[in-house]
Amino acid sequence: VQWVYNFGAGAADGRAEMKNLLGGKGANLAEMASIGLPVPPGFTLTTEVCTRFYEDKCTYPTELKGQVAKALARVEERSGQKFGDATNPLLLSVRSGARASMPGMMDTVLNLGLNDWTVAALAKRSGDRRFAYDSYRRFVQMYSDVVLGIELSHFEKLLERAKQRRGVKQDHELVAEDLEKLVMDYKARVHVEIGMDFPEDPHEQLWGAVGAVFNSWMNQRAKTYRQLHDIPESWGTAVNVQAMVFGNMGSDCATGVAFTRNPSNGANDFYGEFLVNAQGEDVVAGIRTPQELTIKARKSHGSDLPSLEEVMPNIFRELCTMRQQLETHYKDMQDIEFTIQQNKLYMLQTRTGKRTAHAALQIAVDMANEGLISKSQALMRLKPELIDQLLHPTLDPKAKKQVIAKGLPASPGAAAGKVVFSADEAVRRAKDGEKVLLVRIETSPDDIHGLHAAEGVLTTRGGMTSHAAVVARGMGRPCVAGAGAVQVDYAAARLSVGSVTVQEGQILTIDGVTGEVILGEVPTVPPQLSGAFGIIMAWADEYRTLQVRANAETPNDARQAKEFGAQGIGLVRTEHMFFDGGRIIAMRRMILAADEADRKVALEELLTMQREDITELFRIMDGRPVTVRLLDPPLHEFIPHTEAEMAQVAKAAGVPLNRVRRRAAELQEANPMLGHRGCRLAITYPEICEMQARAIFEAAAAVGKAGGAVPVAEVMVPLVATLQELSILKEVVEKTAAAVQKEQGMNFTYRVGTMIELPRACLQAGKLAEQAEFFSFGTNDLTQTTYGLSRDDAGAFLPEYKAKGIVEQDPFVSLDQEGVGELIKVAVERGRTARDGMKMGICGEHGGDPASIEFCNKVGLDYVSCSPFRVPVARLAAAQAAL
Ligand code: PEP
Ligand code: MG
Repeated sequence: VQWVYNFGAGAADGRAEMKNLLGGKGANLAEMASIGLPVPPGFTLTTEVCTRFYEDKCTYPTELKGQVAKALARVEERSGQKFGDATNPLLLSVRSGARASMPGMMDTVLNLGLNDWTVAALAKRSGDRRFAYDSYRRFVQMYSDVVLGIELSHFEKLLERAKQRRGVKQDHELVAEDLEKLVMDYKARVHVEIGMDFPEDPHEQLWGAVGAVFNSWMNQRAKTYRQLHDIPESWGTAVNVQAMVFGNMGSDCATGVAFTRNPSNGANDFYGEFLVNAQGEDVVAGIRTPQELTIKARKSHGSDLPSLEEVMPNIFRELCTMRQQLETHYKDMQDIEFTIQQNKLYMLQTRTGKRTAHAALQIAVDMANEGLISKSQALMRLKPELIDQLLHPTLDPKAKKQVIAKGLPASPGAAAGKVVFSADEAVRRAKDGEKVLLVRIETSPDDIHGLHAAEGVLTTRGGMTSHAAVVARGMGRPCVAGAGAVQVDYAAARLSVGSVTVQEGQILTIDGVTGEVILGEVPTVPPQLSGAFGIIMAWADEYRTLQVRANAETPNDARQAKEFGAQGIGLVRTEHMFFDGGRIIAMRRMILAADEADRKVALEELLTMQREDITELFRIMDGRPVTVRLLDPPLHEFIPHTEAEMAQVAKAAGVPLNRVRRRAAELQEANPMLGHRGCRLAITYPEICEMQARAIFEAAAAVGKAGGAVPVAEVMVPLVATLQELSILKEVVEKTAAAVQKEQGMNFTYRVGTMIELPRACLQAGKLAEQAEFFSFGTNDLTQTTYGLSRDDAGAFLPEYKAKGIVEQDPFVSLDQEGVGELIKVAVERGRTARDGMKMGICGEHGGDPASIEFCNKVGLDYVSCSPFRVPVARLAAAQAAL
């Protein structure tokens, strides 16, 4: 078995496609090396070593030692240096690299190979003793922390003491002798802590670091990150061992990170940051404020530090060429890390760059227009969920706002919340339902649970590529980074900007588009749906074959749905039209009526309201199909519960309170979701069905007479189990239609169909299709009844089912394709056999879930119907399903 893969100088054993084996970082290092980019030589221990390591009680495969020795010899040859050599020593970095990026979650060791002999050689070759001993003391500290498990605070104390001795405040004011002494102090401390000497043997160091990286796969941070991002534990991590290059050897050295396009808005600008004379982690850690790559970016951010384009113009041009080369090769925006050692440029990493939803769309559209990718590739690479993030509000530009500070616009969107200063506090308050804004000087991987719980993040230090910025963009949380004017006092739990003080719990708003930090909560406005969003939606419409409709019952929802591109309404839940205000009283009166005469009076009242509502929906939908479902009341939601509610109904109906009480008691059900629901109500009281049919047809006539497009009204019967139920109600609807047509002196087309939301209905679909002119799958109830799982109560225990792997996904969110899906397949087949070309759709919540939409496409449904805000998501998912 090949456990180790080499890379470097124009050749590599691996390729970009081998991410599963080499991890993301290792695969891309191999790819970069093989397309000729200047990658320091190195090798990758595969993820299979990690898997074996955990299977075999933390031991390595026997061939590993030999393979590493060979690979190390290759690196020595390629770099012209020797590991542990006292004149020209090879130094190594050892880093983790999982299949999916897990930024900062696992351990890294740099400058490995330093000891009392090699450090002297490093000092000589670099001509800089201070640099050599600073690298050494950093290495001892990092190794002791990561590999030997010694508390960092010990080393911090010793560092403080060294600075006191010298009478200085900053690390960089220490001279070579101070650092040399500090290394000795560090090592003495190590001996006290672990009762052994710090390892001087470079090979022992190497195996120690490799073991630590594999072990870090199971640390708490990494576990949490995997849970949040659905990364399986079984994947394991690879380990990358690579020749060190130094960005901190002097003023002709630098290190930086860059995106080949702007990750925040997607603009085709080279975008990044760097620090002169610094080591890689310094940029991301946000300790020094980084400089911009380009003159353009420097000007637009008003920075007074010179850009790379100005400081090292030749290197900048070389980097621009590599930017082109990478994009042409990978055909996607890349996130790169580079280091300049004594005026020579090295590439340390490339990967597909994380970006905001907005940038993702812009980049996909631009790359397709540039001919780098095809339109269908552009569509395929966009996660439908991204669309969701774009549909959310931004700050109202007209709102008054008291801006107290400005930072970098690190992740767009507006967020307001109560200020908290720690991740734990954010989680605690979010659990209590509070909206919080996490404020930190800077964030680290230890804060991810807090970033997740917060509405947004504000940091006072660090740039666009700082940890907070990268993670917030990935999670779709608004973020303002590096707002330097904000002073945070963790101990007092408050922040201040000049004379303004904000205590924990007070509200702030941040604007991730402008970088503004604003006092109090600022009103928001709906999102902009033009530009790249409009283009992607238009492309999606070219490819998809599934139609997309919306579930809507209010004029607002219908308008919203139409704006988002809904091609009709797939479900009007008529009972929802009676929830608000005084209407519920008429509804209760109807339900509680003691006899038919009583019920008729209440129905008259309801008819007027229903007709008006439906007329409005028809008008808005302007000739697009509208499916109106007959009353499907969970009865218990309409029965008055309190004495006051009963008194209201008694008064409206002019009956004694006692009678209402008795009726309400009679109507109580033990299991209302399986009770007198759906069409069962209309079977008992056909006059309800008649009233609704009349409202629908009179509405159609009214719209037509007013000169509007006459809609094809689709009347839908809910919760049907048997053909007889459907036949009885269809007859009522047809009679009513005939009557209304005669009264109004006009003809209109309509269809009567049924919901399919019971297993029996699926099995009997062939029979139902004799009467039904269309099917609409109500997968909420179909899931409930197939699983025998109450949709109102399952939330209490489903998370545990998910955690234990019994279900992969909540079946009420993503369709259970094996079970519920099988029933749908049967129903589609039997229905279409009985009625050729029968129109079928889905209107359960699953109609807006991308995986379920793919399934609907596969089984041949004609449309999906979902809530208005899911319509754009569904349009994209439908296109992807068709591609
Ligand atoms: C369904 O059951 O999937 C459905 C759309 O109806 P409701 O959610 O109103 O029961
Ligand atoms: Mg239902």
